[in-house]
Amino acid sequence: METHLEHRDIVGVADAVLLEDYTSEKAFVKNLKKRFKENIIYTYIGPVLVSVNPYKNLHIYGSDFIEKYENKHFFEVPPHVFAVTDTAYRSLKEENREQCILISGESGSGKTEASKKVLQYIAEITDHKGSVETVKNKLLESNPLLEAFGNAKTNRNDNSSRFGKYMDVQFDYRGFPVGGNILNYLLEKSRVINQASGERNFHIFYQLLAGASHDELEELHLKPNLSSYYYLTHGDKSNVDNLDDKKAYKEVVHALKTLELRDDERKEIFSIVASVLHLGNVGFTEEEGHAHLSKRDLVKTVSKLLGCSEELLVKALTHRTISANGDVVVTPLNRELAIYARDALAKAVYDRLFTWLVQRLNKSLQPHDARKYVAMGILDIYGFEIFERNSFEQLCINFCNEKLQQLFIELTLKSEQEEYFKEGIEWNKVEYFDNQVICDLIEEKHKGIISIMDEECLRPGDPTDKTLLEKMNNSFKEHKHYINHKKADAKLQKVLGREEFRLIHYAGDVTYNIHGFLEKNNDLLFRDLKDAMSKSHNNIIQSVFPAKEQESKKRPETAITQFRISLNHLMEILIDKQPSYIRCIKPNEIKTAGLFDNTLVNHQVKYLGLMENLRVRRAGFAYRRLFEKFLQRYKCLCKATWPNWHGNVKDGVQTLVNALGYDKDEYRLGKTKIFMRFPKTLFNTEDAFQAK
Ligand code: ADP
Ligand code: MG
Repeated sequence: METHLEHRDIVGVADAVLLEDYTSEKAFVKNLKKRFKENIIYTYIGPVLVSVNPYKNLHIYGSDFIEKYENKHFFEVPPHVFAVTDTAYRSLKEENREQCILISGESGSGKTEASKKVLQYIAEITDHKGSVETVKNKLLESNPLLEAFGNAKTNRNDNSSRFGKYMDVQFDYRGFPVGGNILNYLLEKSRVINQASGERNFHIFYQLLAGASHDELEELHLKPNLSSYYYLTHGDKSNVDNLDDKKAYKEVVHALKTLELRDDERKEIFSIVASVLHLGNVGFTEEEGHAHLSKRDLVKTVSKLLGCSEELLVKALTHRTISANGDVVVTPLNRELAIYARDALAKAVYDRLFTWLVQRLNKSLQPHDARKYVAMGILDIYGFEIFERNSFEQLCINFCNEKLQQLFIELTLKSEQEEYFKEGIEWNKVEYFDNQVICDLIEEKHKGIISIMDEECLRPGDPTDKTLLEKMNNSFKEHKHYINHKKADAKLQKVLGREEFRLIHYAGDVTYNIHGFLEKNNDLLFRDLKDAMSKSHNNIIQSVFPAKEQESKKRPETAITQFRISLNHLMEILIDKQPSYIRCIKPNEIKTAGLFDNTLVNHQVKYLGLMENLRVRRAGFAYRRLFEKFLQRYKCLCKATWPNWHGNVKDGVQTLVNALGYDKDEYRLGKTKIFMRFPKTLFNTEDAFQAK
């Protein structure tokens, strides 16, 4: 027994349900820290995997580890992303059940890396021949490709995903991957035109400049020189590691080939990327309130690269056509509006290129025949965000997390309850915080924040951020989860400005600054620019700016409504699947190995709702195991069952449990499984097993 204790002391407990004081956040974090210091980055809360970013390469993903986890029972091997994947995969294969692996955590916590490990594991344990191999290569290579276009260096993460991603891997009846489908969410397109200090634009711009040949660059009218491009000069201007960008460019080109994009498609893609760089350099002067292009030949280059008419583009960058009551009026733009139009075009072109790319990959990943496949979804999406200053983007992201939390509650509690019911076990419902009320506050029809925002965007007259905030303040006077300056108590009033509102999210309080909400939600691209694009000869541009969009009288959905619709669609996809959870934690803010910042981790434990998770798990019967497995494993602990039990398994388990002296309230025997609240003694043994 002593050796068991020793073992526990070093590595803590592998499953937090075993913590003696399971309500204490301190004990929970201490356990994570203990393990982290020993390079054990994974810990369970029941079936939920908690992962702490090690910020260094651990040798825990090699083929030895694949072998160690393949076909093993979840609780018989130490916690690992492979264990989660293996369990999900087997359930998919053996029970034909659709799966989803939901990965959450804040930026830099290791979500994207985890999602790649899931894919890696799947690729390694399935067939290595012919068409399956081709599909797997495509699935694997879609990652560097989308990362080139959708990731950027931020202060939090050198390879930060600036979009949300859901990827279905489709399997045939043999359990072989035969295809895939990707859904993308809300690319942070403002990065195209501006970056915070120390951050970069999307990787692809740097990769192209560093990696393309002299001839290629010439064709795109580019110089291999970052400082020549206005859109690259806002944030990190320091010498970027060119070699990496160069290598990455090669990988991108390789991935494009693997995914069967044609040469002409590749050329069009890079033309568009280059056009954005040139567009940023287009400047304006102003005369009597009218904007004029200062470098006309640049527009010529842009129009050439975008395949659109130079004349139309010049006109659209400096004028605006408005039709009112059947009259068409063309008004010149002033310099400020012209810059706004230019930036809006750059953002729209890039954003739509990204979506096009995802769709193009999907075409390439589509299974060859239309049979019904079973899918495993992997969701890698931004975690809860609380910054110094929070804006429209944070509201969208935090709304997304509210929805995922709701799904989490519904799915975990539902599946817990279902299992007890199936096994004929009585239990009392657990009380938990239901965040429906916050979801409603944001998205309820006609009443929620989104509705009010959209209404204000559409209102004729002169809607501003200020009038929007006033409306919201009025509407949510009584709402417990909405606070504004007037509603705040004296202490809060000192920090909560008149241009701010605060939402009490399930994961914490976030103060949002209303500045820019209307504009971002409107996401306006002047008609003239769309028009010029829709007549482009560049096939991609033409297809992403369809002429239909112009003809339609209906106003396009606002940004947040589009996001809400796509999120609700995602929820519908996820709700029917069997979920597995990976909760990622960032141990420090400075991307450093070995450093565990208690305060920072405490925050994340709170935002991820991990203590709530643990409480729910402990309120029921945290441990469950099939009678056969249980008996097999622990029969050595009792004379009557050792070396073999010859009767009915349930009786065998009962005999074993009696011998171990378990209290009646501590366990239940269901139809096929034993359930335990707190299998401490057993797990001591189990930890020892794991150490071997
Ligand atoms: P997120 O997607 O949550 O923003 P990433 O998955 O991109 O975060 O991780 C950020 C960085 O942390 C990675 O680029 C990598 O350097 C490091 N990292 C994350 N997870 C691991 C891991 N399991 N092992 C080693 N390094 C990791
Ligand atoms: Mg990421």
